[in-house]
Amino acid sequence: MPLQEDSQRQILRSLIQAGKPVPWRFIHDWRCYACGECCTRYLVELKPIEYAEIAHVYGYSYVTTNLGKVYLRRRPDGSCVFLYRANGRGLCGLQHMKPEACRLWPFIPCETPNFGYPELAYYKYGRRLYYVYVVPACPGLSYGEPSERLREKVIPEILDMKFRGRTRQKYSTSSLGLGYPSRYPPLTILRI
Ligand code: SF4
Ligand code: SF4
Repeated sequence: MPLQEDSQRQILRSLIQAGKPVPWRFIHDWRCYACGECCTRYLVELKPIEYAEIAHVYGYSYVTTNLGKVYLRRRPDGSCVFLYRANGRGLCGLQHMKPEACRLWPFIPCETPNFGYPELAYYKYGRRLYYVYVVPACPGLSYGEPSERLREKVIPEILDMKFRGRTRQKYSTSSLGLGYPSRYPPLTILRI
């Protein structure tokens, strides 16, 4: 993507300043370094099945409802109840059943160009055309010509999770959390 073109630079600058979704062709790469910001600043809406599974395993005190929608409960400081801190990082204690909203963040994969700029957001995957945007609030983003890793690994995994039922993450999550003994409820481990 020719970032040197002034008009595209202006588009990118205005989207970032407004905090609006940015088409993926503006993104050079993305890596989650587990700052924990997204687990503190945003409510995580759950699908009904996610709500049922988390409530079944952890109890209803870990989920909450509001105006007909269901969410992960947050602590008084705004952080998700499953966020834990270690070595200055914010790590997810729900890796083994992480909600889709968390697995996709900061990407917004769409079947139509919901946030505009279709010529910059389209992604041809198999026979289908999708549109992929990124929330600029994530500090793990870098801007410029899309890297091979972003184009060939990260975005396909995001589309697989959104539209093809994939749940396992390899490229779309922080490598810091890998290796976590996910068969145990993490909050139980932390209390030992
Ligand atoms: S996805 Fe972004 S905001 Fe969230 S923990 Fe990773 S780097 Fe931080
Ligand atoms: S479930 Fe995990 S990734 Fe999602 S907000 Fe909570 S700690 Fe963060």
